[in-house]
Amino acid sequence: MTSDAVVIGAGIVGAACAAELAAQGMTVQVLDAAGIGGGATAAGMGHLVVMNDSPAELALSRYSRELWLALAPALREEDAFVRCGTLWVAADEEEWDAALALRHAFANAQVRTELLDAAALQECEPALAAPLAGGLLVADDAIVYAPRAAQWLLEHSLGCRNIQVRLGCEVRSVVSGEVRLASGECVKTGLIVIANGLAAQRLVPTLPIRPKKGHLLITDRYSGYIRHQILELGYIKSAHQSEGASVAFNAQPRPTGQILLGSSRQFDTLDRAVEWPVLMRMVERASRYLPSLPSLNAMRTWTGFRAATPDGLPLVGPAGEALAGVWIAAGHEGLGVTTSLATAKLLAAQICGVPAAIDLAPYRVDRFSVEAGREV
Ligand SMILES: Cc1cc2nc3c(=O)[nH]c(=O)nc-3n(C[C@H](O)[C@H](O)[C@H](O)COP(=O)(O)OP(=O)(O)OC[C@H]3O[C@@H](n4cnc5c(N)ncnc54)[C@H](O)[C@@H]3O)c2cc1C
Repeated sequence: MTSDAVVIGAGIVGAACAAELAAQGMTVQVLDAAGIGGGATAAGMGHLVVMNDSPAELALSRYSRELWLALAPALREEDAFVRCGTLWVAADEEEWDAALALRHAFANAQVRTELLDAAALQECEPALAAPLAGGLLVADDAIVYAPRAAQWLLEHSLGCRNIQVRLGCEVRSVVSGEVRLASGECVKTGLIVIANGLAAQRLVPTLPIRPKKGHLLITDRYSGYIRHQILELGYIKSAHQSEGASVAFNAQPRPTGQILLGSSRQFDTLDRAVEWPVLMRMVERASRYLPSLPSLNAMRTWTGFRAATPDGLPLVGPAGEALAGVWIAAGHEGLGVTTSLATAKLLAAQICGVPAAIDLAPYRVDRFSVEAGREV
């Protein structure tokens, strides 16, 4: 079996990269050790959100959210795309100032927002605690069921006829022009895309990726309990804490009427077990914002691992001189569903040697090599 390109990983990032390369006319083999949309893609919340931790994060997430909005009409009901918007909640004056700053940054990036005072916030989401200082509504943010969206990209996107998916194919190593499978098979190709999330580091050990564990909880069906994905403004601080365990309020209304509750962040563990003390902290935190939350029935809890880089931005570009023809699309941390489509566009632009829609430099793999042997 030969193809123009081999993509390793059928998570949302690998699927998006394969779909983009296939749409450009390349034949693409996608190899995954397990199934489509497993890994972090199955574990996450699927919130499609513009984030502003850095100008590069804002540029990438905004670009990618626009790509999702453009793709949305083609998606199926089972992909569960809903433009529910994000409601950033300010608990006090300090967070209200953060809402104003976020609004300013978003305005500069042409991201539409609406500032809500305390009364408007209460009207918008009556289940929220009162009084809160106010909120910032980002109406064009959305949610999607990422594992299904990954399957759509591989099996229904424009160039899907050019894509061959091979599941149960664990990749053991990669050299220029060749992918070696655990079965002993060698797949030869001119172009290799490493998009296997956290496990990318096993194939390229120098990649600066650390696991960041997260807990999630889903409730029974409570249709209309909340209507927007609601996050506390303190979430941004918590999301980028680099040590210890942190929790923040993040609640999502699923199209089924269930409430998906996040999120926690812990470094330096690969233990999949649900940790009750962390989960309790998460629920307690959420209950400050949704006081009736403890009366809802929880159906399931689980954990997942984000692939975090030192600066919180993904690695998108050539793997380096020693691995000619090998490309990386990994390290998307807690935003990989959102940024998958833009990642694929940026990767394809570099591969095809055409200009990209946004500056590529902040995401290049070699941005860390300057520090090689020291920081990274
Ligand atoms: C708790 C939590 C909440 C999140 N919430 C959000 C959110 O709301 N919004 C958002 O945008 N992002 C969110 N994320 C982040 C997002 O889920 C990830 O960034 C994204 O799913 C990463 O996709 P991926 O394709 O890079 O990796 P993965 O989904 O991990 O896929 C990697 C694939 O590679 C395969 N693989 C691994 N090793 C090999 C190998 N050696 N050979 C072959 N195949 C291999 C795996 O089987 C897997 O299918 C969240 C993540 C977590 C953990």
